Amino acid sequence: MDAMTATTFSSTSPLDGSVVDTFPVHRPDDVDAAVDRARRAAASWRALGFAGRRRVLHAWRRDIVAHLDDLISLVRAETGKPRGDARLEIMLALDHLAWAATHAPRTLRRRRVGSGVLMLNQHASVGYVPYGVVGVIGPWNYPVFTPMGSLAYALAAGNAVVFKPSEYTPGVGAWLQRAFVRAGGAADVFSVVTGFGETGAALCRAGVDKVAFTGSTATGRAVMAACAETLTPVVIEAGGKDALLVDEDADLAAAAEAAVWGAYSNAGQTCIGIERVYAHAQVYDRFVEAVAERTRELRAGTGDDATLGPLTMPRQADVVRAHVADALARGATPRVGSVPGAGTTVQPVLLTDVDERSSAVRDETFGPTLVVNRVASMDEAIEKANAVRYGLSGAVFSKRRGRELALRLRGGMIAINSVISFAAIPSLPFGGVGDSGFGRIHGADGLREFAYPKALTRQR
Ligand code: NAD
Repeated sequence: MDAMTATTFSSTSPLDGSVVDTFPVHRPDDVDAAVDRARRAAASWRALGFAGRRRVLHAWRRDIVAHLDDLISLVRAETGKPRGDARLEIMLALDHLAWAATHAPRTLRRRRVGSGVLMLNQHASVGYVPYGVVGVIGPWNYPVFTPMGSLAYALAAGNAVVFKPSEYTPGVGAWLQRAFVRAGGAADVFSVVTGFGETGAALCRAGVDKVAFTGSTATGRAVMAACAETLTPVVIEAGGKDALLVDEDADLAAAAEAAVWGAYSNAGQTCIGIERVYAHAQVYDRFVEAVAERTRELRAGTGDDATLGPLTMPRQADVVRAHVADALARGATPRVGSVPGAGTTVQPVLLTDVDERSSAVRDETFGPTLVVNRVASMDEAIEKANAVRYGLSGAVFSKRRGRELALRLRGGMIAINSVISFAAIPSLPFGGVGDSGFGRIHGADGLREFAYPKALTRQR
């Protein structure tokens, strides 16, 4: 299909190639109109106040729960992920929705602050004002959980939202919007525009007051450049190349279990997935054996019994093939699996002794591959882990030095003796540094990302 001229497009299932549903390709005029409607609706949403918005957002949550199986089936159809993975991401998203609705008042309400010794005659306060209309642009890998980290927080803070879901998962985006309306939310307070990158680019130029983007680093740059024209503030949640460090005193069984979950869940298509491990030489061989044993138990496929689904799109399988081939050409050892064959069903690959210059070490793979390299010390582990441009998240397994190593590991979120756990704790800020982007979603920081601080002074 020619994305430039088509008026409609379809999402197709990675499970069997069938058409899931067909959607309009929204053009810049359509996007402008959606933003205009959102702007008109924003005033009444804001006027509802925290309590009124909380009622609608909790009703939205209950509606999603009431239709859970339907949403699980749709997520599975559009992404190919197993039902259990789809259920998990929805449950996590619902936790964020409840948290944002409940905590918005205490986080954003106006409060008095100190006036300083020179201004004792002034009463000073700060409150948080919604931006107005927020444009949310989302990826396909967690089509419910990921956008919810912006949608729930932006709405709870009092903004109207125009959401552009990924072209691979437009059905899930439209479903969430219908659920919001069923729950009593106004259709223009949370609306959806569908299409390809051009639709997302149009949203950046449609006069929204803030853009929350989640996707690749390259697209994040384009979003930032577009928003720079109008000085529109942005949150950029981009890619990662997260590392797990295994210290010599680590619980190896737990570390191996976590590495396998971190690397292969969602078929490796997780921004905060583990793509690299640096294991201390004292425990390296035993750790690699434990990981290999567990990795061999996994099966990728399209059936209900598969532990990994197929990759959502052929281009991701191409990246996996290129990264594994490059690592092997540079002398890596294929411990489990090797260069994947044709198709999007990719069995897990475990590589060891991988040259640090390999693309499998430096660039985001976003597929079911894991690199495990040996280090002589944890200083070397930190140095190598921190030597990539990305800085999203990471993990440390250590009994004695977990906190020290976690503080030295570059990234916005680090788990000690577990992986990915921070994503499931709504009160924690979510985001990265470097090529992983900036700004925060989730938690109190996430709520404040969608409202600007307004200072007031009053002469006594
Ligand atoms: P992508 O960058 O290809 O697309 C993301 C979204 O941007 C899509 O909706 C797309 O249509 C839109 N888009 C494309 N070009 C655009 C443009 N010029 N202007 C505005 N919007 C445009 O990313 P993807 O393949 O959908 O997602 C995978 C990437 O997302 C990975 O790199 C992954 O690490 C990252 N990701 C990051 C997080 C995080 O929170 N940091 C979470 C999930 C995924």
